[in-house]
Amino acid sequence: MSQFSFTAEELSALVARKSQLNAPNQEIQHLLTDSRKITDAKSSVFFALKGSRDAHQYIPALYRAGVRTFIISDLSFNVTDFSEGNFIWVADTTLAMQEIAKAHRCKFAYPVIAVTGSNGKTIVKEWLYQLLAPDYDIVRSPKSYNSQIGVPLSVWQMSDDYNLAIFEAGISSGNEMEHLAAIIKPDIGVLTNIGAAHDEGFASRDEKLHEKLKLFKNARLVVINQQFKDALEPSKNTFTWSLNDETADLYVVKITHKISFTSIHAKYKNEEISVNIPFSSLASIENAVICWAVLLSQNIAQVQIEKRMQKLLQVKMRLELKTGINQSAIIDDSYNSDFSSLDIALDFLNQQNQYPTKTLILSDIHQSGKANDELYRDVAMLLTNKGVDRFIGIGADLKRFSSVFPVHSVFYNSTDEFIENFRSSDFKNETILLKGSRDFGFERISKMLTQKVHETVMEINLNAILANLKHYKAKLRPGVKLMAMVKAFAYGSGSDEIANLLQHHRVDYLAVAYADEGVALRQAGIKVPIMVLSPEVSSFESIVEHNLEPELYSPRILDAFVDFLNSKNAQFYPIHIKVDTGMHRLGFDFKDIDALIVKLKTNTSVLVKSVFSHLVASDNDAHNSFTLKQISDFELFVNRLQSNLDYTFLRHILNTSGISRWPQAQFEMVRLGIGLYGIESIDTEKALLEPVVSLKTTISQIKELEKGETVGYSRKGVMQHKGKTATVKIGYADGYPRALGNGVGKMLVNGVLAPTIGNICMDMTMLDISGIETSEGDDVIVFGEGFSVYDLAEQLDTIPYEVITNISQRVKRVYYYE
Ligand SMILES: *Cc1c(COP(=O)(O)O)cnc(C)c1O
Repeated sequence: MSQFSFTAEELSALVARKSQLNAPNQEIQHLLTDSRKITDAKSSVFFALKGSRDAHQYIPALYRAGVRTFIISDLSFNVTDFSEGNFIWVADTTLAMQEIAKAHRCKFAYPVIAVTGSNGKTIVKEWLYQLLAPDYDIVRSPKSYNSQIGVPLSVWQMSDDYNLAIFEAGISSGNEMEHLAAIIKPDIGVLTNIGAAHDEGFASRDEKLHEKLKLFKNARLVVINQQFKDALEPSKNTFTWSLNDETADLYVVKITHKISFTSIHAKYKNEEISVNIPFSSLASIENAVICWAVLLSQNIAQVQIEKRMQKLLQVKMRLELKTGINQSAIIDDSYNSDFSSLDIALDFLNQQNQYPTKTLILSDIHQSGKANDELYRDVAMLLTNKGVDRFIGIGADLKRFSSVFPVHSVFYNSTDEFIENFRSSDFKNETILLKGSRDFGFERISKMLTQKVHETVMEINLNAILANLKHYKAKLRPGVKLMAMVKAFAYGSGSDEIANLLQHHRVDYLAVAYADEGVALRQAGIKVPIMVLSPEVSSFESIVEHNLEPELYSPRILDAFVDFLNSKNAQFYPIHIKVDTGMHRLGFDFKDIDALIVKLKTNTSVLVKSVFSHLVASDNDAHNSFTLKQISDFELFVNRLQSNLDYTFLRHILNTSGISRWPQAQFEMVRLGIGLYGIESIDTEKALLEPVVSLKTTISQIKELEKGETVGYSRKGVMQHKGKTATVKIGYADGYPRALGNGVGKMLVNGVLAPTIGNICMDMTMLDISGIETSEGDDVIVFGEGFSVYDLAEQLDTIPYEVITNISQRVKRVYYYE
C-alpha cells in the first residue's frame, strides 16, 4: 500500500460539509467516477458526479460490490442501510474531487510538466514521455485525460515510484483553466498550437489563448511559440521556438523531406543543429520542434536528442474493435502498454456483451516505474477485479511471475512462440483484448485473429457517437427520455456494437425496424427496452419471446396482436401506439380514436407504454406551420386517449432535427436517429456534431495509359490525356453506386480528389490519378476527413441517410475508441 494514500477520515477533513464515517480508517487508493469501472472496491472512493442522471442511485449497488466510501451532494440521501459506509457530503462533487487531487499533488516535489493547446496535446505528451523515458521514471495522463475530471484522475496517479510527471490540460470554455492549474501546479508549461478546436466556447482566439496561458501562472518556465510570448507576463521565464521568427531561442531554418524521414534544421545559441524524425506532416514537425525545445530547455545533450528523435513512434491512442475469427470480437490496443491504459482497455472489454467469454492477451509491461513483482501482482489483481475469464501472457517477465495469475492462464516467452503454437480453433465465442508493448509486435497476432475481408473498411468513431449523444442530451429538459434509433444496421454502423455502446451509456430505449433486428440485439446481450417499428403478424411469436415492444399502427395490427396475446393469456404486454398526423405512412387516424379507446379499455393484455407520431419536415422552415399543426394534432390525440385510460404513457414526436428545432415538443421522450451518427440537415447544427463514419478502400493496381486508351466495361472511360489510373477495391456491390461512374464521383487520393473513370464495376472502381503521388496498397478515402458524406450525397443527388445505409454489410466495420 502506498504511503501516499488517504484515509476516509482525511478525505472528510479535506472536503466535507458534513460526514458520517463508519470506517474512518479505510485507506483510499482509487477515485471512482463510473459505477461500472471498479478496480478495487474497498479502497475506492465513489464520487456521485452530476451528469444527466443522478449518480446517487448507484450507491446501493456499489455498496454491495464492496465500495465503502462515498462523496455525495444529496443531503436527503438516506444512509441508514449502509452500516459500514463512509459518507461525505459536499456542495459540488467535481470540485471535491479536484480538492482531493490538489492535496495529493502537494505531497510531491518532483517536476511536473503541463501541456496545453488546441491540437497536439496528447502527441506532445506521449512524445515527451518517449524522449525523456531514458532519464526519468515518468507518470503521465492516461490517453487524453485532460478535462475537469480527467486531470484529477491523472494527478491522482502520482506516487514516489516516479520522479517526473507530464500531464495535459484541455478546456472547452472560459474559467476552466484556473481549476486545472491549481490541481496540476506545473513547474514547466508547454503550449502547443492555438487552432479552431472549441472556438465556440470563447469570444475570440485571443481570449482562448489567454485562458490557456492561465495554466502557466506559477510555472517557472514556459516553452512557447515565439508568436505568443507577448501574451505572457514580461517577467515570465520562457524558451521560445519558431518556424519563421529568428529571434526565437530555437529557430527552424530549413525542413527537408527525405523518403522515410524529415530533417529539421534550426539555429540555437548561434549554432546550427538538426534532428531527423520519421514523420512528414507539418503538424508532426511542429510537435517535434516543441519537444525539441523542451529537451533543450532541460539541458539534454543535442547528441542524445538526435538519437531519440529519430526513433519517435507514432502515437496511436485508439482502441479498435473488429470482427474476429470463429464468432469473436477483437479489441486491438497493441500500440502501448502500461498499467493505466490496461485498466481503461479492460473497462472497454467489460462493456462488450456480444460474446460470453472475455479474454486478455497481454505482453510484458515496460517502464512502469514499479518493481516487477509489485507490478504483476497489481496486474493479476486487476484481472480478477475486472472479471477477465481467460488470460494469455506473452513475455519473459510475465512468465517469470506466472504464479500470481489464475491457474488456467497460459504463458509464452515471446510473440513468436505464441504464433508457432497458434490454433485458430482455440479462439471462439469470445471478446479478445490484445494489449502489447510496441516491441512485441502484436499486430501479427491481430492479423491472425481478425477476419480477412477485402480491404475496404468503414471506420466508426465511438467517441464521436458519444459526443453526439451528449450534444443532443444537453438539449433535453431534465427527465426527458431518449430513444436511440438503431434501425437499418444502426444507419449502416453496425447494430450490435452501437447498441452495446448506447446501452452502456444508458439510453432509455432502442428502436429497430423489424423483429429479427431486435432478436439479434437480444442475442448480443442488449437488455434495454426495444421498440419494433414494423412488426409483422408472423413475427409476434418472436417479439414476445424476446421481450420486444411492437409499434402498433392500425386497427388491423392492434387487433391481431391483442388476439395473439389473448391466446397466450398474456397480461399488460408493453406496446406503442403510432398516430398519423400528416406523414400518411403508418399510424392510427383520428377517425380510429373511439374504437382504439374501447379496444384499450377492454383488453388488459396490452399496456400502452407510449404514444407517438412522426414529423414530416422537422428540418424545413418552409413547413413550419405544418409542423406546428402536426404537434397540436398529436396533443389533441394523446389528450383524448390519456383522459380515457387510467394509467399514463410516454409521448414522443421529435426525430433528430426535431430535437434541434422544436424544443417545446419534447414531451416525455425523443427519438434520436441520424444525429447520433454525426449527420444533420440543419446547417448550424452540422458544425457542432462530430463525424462518426468514414469509408476507406485501397489501391490494388496503378496503370500508365496513353491518351485515347479506354478504361472499364463498354469502353466508357476514355483517357483525355496521357496519365495514370488506380483500381480500388470498392464497387457497386459494396454500396458505391454505379451512378458515380464516368467522373461523377470522386475519391480522395493522398489528399487530392480523383474522379472515377469508366463505369463502376461490381467490386472495383477505376480512378484517374494523373498527377497524384501515390502507390499501390495506399489508402483511398471514399468519404471521411477531407471529403464528407455530405459531399458524396451531393454528387449522387441524394441525402446522407441513403449513402450510409447503402454500404454493404460485406464491408468490414472497424470501431475505434480514443
Ligand atoms: C428513423 C426514424 C426516426 C429517426 O429519424 P432521424 O431523422 O434519423 O433522427 C424517428 N422516428 C421514426 C418513427 C423513424 O422511423
